[in-house]
Formats: sequence, structure tokens, C-alpha cells
Amino acid sequence: MAATQQAKTRVFSDVDFERKGKQATVLRVPQSRNDSGWGVVQIPITVIKNGKGKTVLLTGGVHGDEYESQIAIAELARNLDPADVQGRLIIIPALHFPAAMNGTRLSPIDNKDLNRCFPGRPEGTFADVLAHYVSAVLLPLTDVNIDLHSGGRAMDFVPSTTAHVLDDKAKMAESTAIARAFGAPYHVVIKEVDAGYTFMTTCERNGVTAISSELGGANRVSIPGLKATRRGIMNSLKHLDLLKGKLDTDGPKTRIVTVPDYGCYAFAPVAGLFEAYHPLGARVRKGDAAGALHFIDDPRRKPEIIAYGYSGEVWCTRGQGPVVAGDPVAVLVADQR
Ligand SMILES: [Zn+2]
Repeated sequence: MAATQQAKTRVFSDVDFERKGKQATVLRVPQSRNDSGWGVVQIPITVIKNGKGKTVLLTGGVHGDEYESQIAIAELARNLDPADVQGRLIIIPALHFPAAMNGTRLSPIDNKDLNRCFPGRPEGTFADVLAHYVSAVLLPLTDVNIDLHSGGRAMDFVPSTTAHVLDDKAKMAESTAIARAFGAPYHVVIKEVDAGYTFMTTCERNGVTAISSELGGANRVSIPGLKATRRGIMNSLKHLDLLKGKLDTDGPKTRIVTVPDYGCYAFAPVAGLFEAYHPLGARVRKGDAAGALHFIDDPRRKPEIIAYGYSGEVWCTRGQGPVVAGDPVAVLVADQR
């Protein structure tokens, strides 16, 4: 590893980002424990470099309970022949590795959401140190970040790519073109809630073209979600000229949609067991009942009906039955105006 990288980060590795061919190794993130002061958490990383072309950072498992990307990205790392690549691929199937091994959104080490820790800081806890490594070492090497998510335990989504609404229209056109190649049913462009400390915002601040996704959820491996993920990764890499070959266009045409305002979020006002009334993708109208909250602890109490605050299509619904007050139970998307 180059001395400059050691000076920039607490994470160390024998990976050489300039070496031609394929390297499958680990990032070592220091994690001092009672029984191992010099202990590290080892995060698998594969780097494939050949010829000339863009550098794509492909990441999954930023949230540990989002599985489709972890499977598809690990598969790609295993199967890709360097001779078929033009450019450089930095592949990390399970970036927030302790969360992925625990099957949870947050890591059991510090109870943090990695996607709220960017750009990170070297003196912080595990997630901060990891986010800092990505920001300080990986992003300066990167032209495009494809960071794939799903709904986790919380939500279940129509397979979708996502990107932020940007002032830089040229950058936005780049992410939209990748999304069209990816080929999920929806590409959702949003002004995200609480986006300041996310991976995507840090990419944007560093001039890295960024695209993300919601490819299933409900704490399982979604069949349509995994299919869309596998196809989407290959199509994106072909679009970016890292791989040769024709795009697989044997799917629905991607529709560009958005979440126009907070009325698109239906929240549970109190705790209960949520019954959704509509399947994913259904067209609904403002004022329609989104579902019912059931109170199993008091059978005499009538269910509370939650209404949609907007007219659109059901992008996602609650991924598991129980909710507490303030949990979103459904989110709608609508065509751009
Ligand atoms: Zn996620």
C-alpha cells in the first residue's frame, strides 16, 4: 500500500489499485476489543483492472439487511474475467461488513447506520472510520459509484434505481443514463430526507457520478429484486464501457418518477399491526385508504385507517407487520411534472 494512503486513513490493506489483473483481498479496519487490542474487521474487496477506461466503485451491504446487492455483487467479483474489463472495478459486496454478517441495518459494533456517517472521520467509531476510508481513499479514484440498496426489514419496494435531484444538470443526465441502462421499472429522482451525511451526497460533493437503488426488501431475497440487480449491474457496466456486449433490454422500460412532496409518505400515527390495502405498483388517489392499523392487544378497538396524502403509485410498503408511531407504512411515486 502506498504511504500516502496510510497517512490518509486508519484502514489498511495489501490491495494495489494500480495493479493490472484481479485481486481478491480484504480491507482491515481496526477494531480494538477486550480480548484483541490489535484486532481488525476484514472486509472483502476485489479490484479488477485492465486496459483503459473508467473506475467504477460497486458497493452493496451498506445496510446489512439488504441482500440482493450483496449476492449479485459477490457473484460478479467471483466470476468476472479481467480480460473482459476495460477500466477498473472496485467491488465491495458488503461494505458495512459487521452489519451484513448480523443481517441488520445498523452494525452491532457501534449501532450506527453507515449511510448516515459520511464523509466519516478517522477518530470516530467503526462506521465513521470506514466511511472516512471510502471518502478519503476510494472516492478520489472513482468516476462512478453504483451503491445498491433494498428495503431491508423496514420496507418492500418495486425494484427501482434512485438518484438525487441535482443543480448540475450534466451530472444528473449521467446518472439518468446509467439508470436507463440498469433497466429497473422505476428510476426515482428525489430530494432525499436527511441526505447530508449519506454516501451519495459525499459522492456528489466529490464530483463522482452516483446512482443507488431500492431492489426488494422485507428482510428476504426478492426474486424480482435479485433478477433486476443482476441484469442492472451488467447493463450499467456495459453502458459505462467497462464490459463489452449489448444491453439486456428484455424488461420493462424504465419510467422516471419522483416523490413530489411529503404527502407521498404515509406514516403510522400510533403503534399497531399494519395491513397494506394495495400491492406494490398500484395506482392510488389522495384520500384513498392506504391500509389499516390493527390493535391486537384490544380486540374491542376498531382498526385505524391510514389515508394516502397524494395521488400516485405505490413505491413501497411496510416490510413487516408491527409498526411504532412515526414509522412510514407506504411511500408513493408520481410522474415528474
Ligand atoms: Zn439501504
